[in-house]
Amino acid sequence: MLREHGLRAASLEGGYGAWLQREMKDWDRYERQMILPEIGVSGQRKLKDARVLIVGAGGLGSPAAQYLAGAGVGTIGIMDADDVSLSNLHRQVIHPMSRLGENKAQSARSSMLNLNDRITVKTYPFRLTPANAAEIIRQYDFVLDCVDNFETKFLINDACVLSGTPFCHAGILRFQGQVMTYVPGQGPCYRCIFGEIPEAGSIPTCSQAGIIGAVAGIIGCVQALEAIKYITGAGDVLTGKMFILDGLTMKTRLASFPHPSPDCRVCGPSADIRDVGDQAQEYESKGSCGAQRDCD
Ligand SMILES: [Zn+2]
Repeated sequence: MLREHGLRAASLEGGYGAWLQREMKDWDRYERQMILPEIGVSGQRKLKDARVLIVGAGGLGSPAAQYLAGAGVGTIGIMDADDVSLSNLHRQVIHPMSRLGENKAQSARSSMLNLNDRITVKTYPFRLTPANAAEIIRQYDFVLDCVDNFETKFLINDACVLSGTPFCHAGILRFQGQVMTYVPGQGPCYRCIFGEIPEAGSIPTCSQAGIIGAVAGIIGCVQALEAIKYITGAGDVLTGKMFILDGLTMKTRLASFPHPSPDCRVCGPSADIRDVGDQAQEYESKGSCGAQRDCD
């Protein structure tokens, strides 16, 4: 029976009784996912040992944080400089009305620990910047891009590529969403596909064009699933392909991006971006992006 669940006799330190007591605390909580052959006890241990950073505690970060907390990811970092406002609540469902005005990272931490008090949640109640990105990201095994502006998306990409950290990108607008995962050495990065930070105004923002909360929820859950698959090794992550959802028609597709771009400025052979801290001007707003806030 132990072998059936992926348990090894070598792990019975302190005797069977002590082991059983230790393990059974988590057994009930995680049973429904541990009985999956793709997860098992070994996968659950990988989740427990994993460190995942979620940048943005908004519409994408809310479901991602809750499902990663529920799944038992041992250390989760959650970063957001903003406070919870009333216009957030239709999609940022990790924040209750009672925490209006509180910092979103702190509010998210409270909700995550309410769901699972056997994990560690570190909060970063400030923005990811070129000055702090490399130092923070290097402390994590996997990063979720749950932010609402292109400057930070490119910063996350470049800092992750340069530090060899896998991450999952997502974007949402109106009824649509997209997700891709970067794994070092296994496919293109976000910059390979999107090139440069777009000029402000060239792409509509969520505060201008709107977003339906349920789409943010679906896409944030896909990000959580990508993290869980990467950590446990189950299935295939979205490397070299972009998952695209049209929530109005429920059409989905996987756009293929099989190769890194030879012209990529961060992962290509002639890359000129080598240190996000030293090249902070790369991540300055190109025009205005104030309007892009509130659309994560
Ligand atoms: Zn690239």
